[in-house]
Amino acid sequence: MWTNWSGAQQSRPRATDRPLDEAGVAAAVRRAASRGLRIRPVGTGHSWSPLAVTDDVQLDCRALTGVVAVVGERVRVRAGATLESLHGELAEHGRALAVVPDAVELTVAGAIGTGTHGSGATTGSLSAQVTGVRLVDGTGTVRRVEGPDLDAVRTGLGALGVLTEVELRTVPLRLLQVHEEPGEPVELVATGGVLDAHAWAEIVLHVPSGEALARWGDPVEPDLESAPVRRDLVRAAAAGSAEALGRVVSRLAPTLRRTARWGGTVVGPAHRVLPDRRPVRAEAAEWALPRETLGTALRELGAAAAARRMELRSPVLVRVGPAETGWLHPAWNRPTAWVALRSPRGVDPAPLFALAGTVLEAVGGRPHWAGHHRWGRTEVERAYPRLADFQAVRNRFDPDRRFSGAHVDSLLGA
Ligand SMILES: Cc1cc2nc3c(=O)[nH]c(=O)nc-3n(C[C@H](O)[C@H](O)[C@H](O)COP(=O)(O)OP(=O)(O)OC[C@H]3O[C@@H](n4cnc5c(N)ncnc54)[C@H](O)[C@@H]3O)c2cc1C
Repeated sequence: MWTNWSGAQQSRPRATDRPLDEAGVAAAVRRAASRGLRIRPVGTGHSWSPLAVTDDVQLDCRALTGVVAVVGERVRVRAGATLESLHGELAEHGRALAVVPDAVELTVAGAIGTGTHGSGATTGSLSAQVTGVRLVDGTGTVRRVEGPDLDAVRTGLGALGVLTEVELRTVPLRLLQVHEEPGEPVELVATGGVLDAHAWAEIVLHVPSGEALARWGDPVEPDLESAPVRRDLVRAAAAGSAEALGRVVSRLAPTLRRTARWGGTVVGPAHRVLPDRRPVRAEAAEWALPRETLGTALRELGAAAAARRMELRSPVLVRVGPAETGWLHPAWNRPTAWVALRSPRGVDPAPLFALAGTVLEAVGGRPHWAGHHRWGRTEVERAYPRLADFQAVRNRFDPDRRFSGAHVDSLLGA
């Protein structure tokens, strides 16, 4: 039996294939086709939604690992490589990903499949960094995808084919100086405030107490281009901040105090400083809102929760990103504020996520595909004007709907 990272999604596929290379992927797709079975590709199962669930064939892509080449500003990497391994290999070449999501265990293809993002007003998601892919389509044929079709692949939900290799833009490896400090929520979320003023920024908000922690970061010299990673510097900075951390966070509500990560200032390569390497297992939902609605949305979320006597115990994480070109990316065509909610294991997350969904959808929010949500085809059609273009690519790449599944079909239609 397969379960996702949080344990809430389970499936009993009729067969699980674990191809070692692209030829193995093509063979698996043809085998499934000859038996009339459907296939769902899966990475490390970090999605909370049932995207990878199937009772036919699950195609586990985790053995498709390794960097193929780092050439100039681009890297070609096999699709099942984890972000952890990619961060490490790029650093050895003096390069880095422009965007650093919270988790390092995600596969490159899985992350792109759902439009995985970090937080920076001008830094697009991992999907936005894609310059080309190789994929095995529904007929078992290998395709190299570039040009306009890429805007379908950027957030493909595993519905267009099995990615085997991905080419991504990279940036020079640099040190990021990050800072953490309590602040006033109204000021922190304002347009032009901390979220928009830095290369990287996020806010953690404890809705019931109205307290907030702001975190932000900017690159600092020396430029690391090809220097080894300065672990010593990271450690020293972290140690130096310990006392400040104590002073700063002791004034905060207990829930928020537990989320404090650095207190004062920490310096290090982004891929070492930013990811949360010991995430607490929980269920999650995240919504992509038009940036300008953020303040209103958070106020209304607090009011709606209070009116229903529902306590938002876990802090809300607020991040930002620019408009995306991926046709099904939740940040498509508009600067975005991301609002993420967590529900601890053992608690039924449905009431909280339903409430948040109602409030955040009302301001124009679109759900993160990897999070819990209740959207279906009607909502997707309304929110994504380029859905027809996506479907046209899907019709060419997967005419027989080899990659369909109950959840994908409920979103896109069969
Ligand atoms: C602790 C944690 C932290 C997270 N942090 C962030 C964050 O900071 N930002 C953010 O945006 N999201 C975040 N997420 C969500 C995460 O990025 C997505 O769930 C991502 O899709 C997970 O990658 P995966 O390899 O586990 O893919 P899976 O969950 O296994 O699959 C996701 C989708 O990709 C498809 N897929 C997988 N492999 C392939 C392939 N080879 N070819 C084609 N399609 C494929 C699947 O069919 C599915 O539709 C986080 C999740 C967790 C659990």
